[in-house]
Amino acid sequence: MTDRYAVIGHPIAHSKSPQIHAAFAAQTGQDLVYEAILCEPEALKSRILEFRDQGGRGMNITLPFKQEVMGLATEQSPAVRLAGAANTLIFSKTQIIAHNTDGLGLVRDLEVNLQFPLAGKSVLLLGAGGASYGVVGPLLAAAVSALVVVNRTQDKARGLVDSFSHFSGSIALSTLSHGDLMESSRRFDVVINATSAGLSGQMLALPKNIFSPGALAYDMVYGRETIFMAFARAQAVQVADGLGMLVEQAAEAFYLWRGLRPQSGPVINELRRQEAG
Ligand code: NAP
Repeated sequence: MTDRYAVIGHPIAHSKSPQIHAAFAAQTGQDLVYEAILCEPEALKSRILEFRDQGGRGMNITLPFKQEVMGLATEQSPAVRLAGAANTLIFSKTQIIAHNTDGLGLVRDLEVNLQFPLAGKSVLLLGAGGASYGVVGPLLAAAVSALVVVNRTQDKARGLVDSFSHFSGSIALSTLSHGDLMESSRRFDVVINATSAGLSGQMLALPKNIFSPGALAYDMVYGRETIFMAFARAQAVQVADGLGMLVEQAAEAFYLWRGLRPQSGPVINELRRQEAG
């Protein structure tokens, strides 16, 4: 029997997840369908349970439900407990197991696709929203040397750093105010833009000397050239968008559901080909 999966969010029409999972299923010969479900916030719980009760095997969760969905889980993975958010559910008759694959997706994109090993690297993370919460644990687990979080609302950056302080071990995990960052002469090996500023054509100002020689600038946004990416290109550093992270977090979810690891490279290439139009 064909197994059913879905992504649920609001809005959802833009989601590339159905295309990505259909490509993974074709590649690995898995008999499954994957649909997109638009859901009003007040209907989230009933819509997820309905999908499960109709035989659904798993779901991806996207904005704005990644935190709220945790209340439905009977079991949470360590990544979910650390991030305070989930993007993948596995259903059985009695259980809903919640996972968060965003951070692993980012780390795999950086280390495997972009061939940029993170161990010993200094990282500047811009933003302290749900995406940042999802990636801090896996970045620390990748043994970066230092992780500095800067956010427009500094209290949120402090809250993020506080909630991971017990997990950082010998890694220097800290926050800087935006003003202090502008004054600072610190340079970073990796600068990750995890703000949604690029979607509105805005950007936190950054000092021009923010990048170490050979640095990588990574914007989690995909499908457009953001101000952050243009700024980084002007400093002649390597620049990447978040398309690879999107495909890698999906590959990780597919692996959790099906026990098979699909090849993400051909799917990333196909999406890039379509983007280029
Ligand atoms: P979120 O929870 O809404 O957080 C948004 C963050 O952006 C906050 O830190 C916010 O700062 C900051 N921000 C928004 N507008 C800004 C501006 N004009 N200037 C400076 N900072 C601004 O969103 P999220 O879930 O963390 O997602 C962040 C981005 O990552 C989105 O663009 C999302 O599409 C992308 N994302 C990509 C992937 C992927 O697979 N590629 C996965 C997850 C997320 P304040 O705290 O001050 O409001």
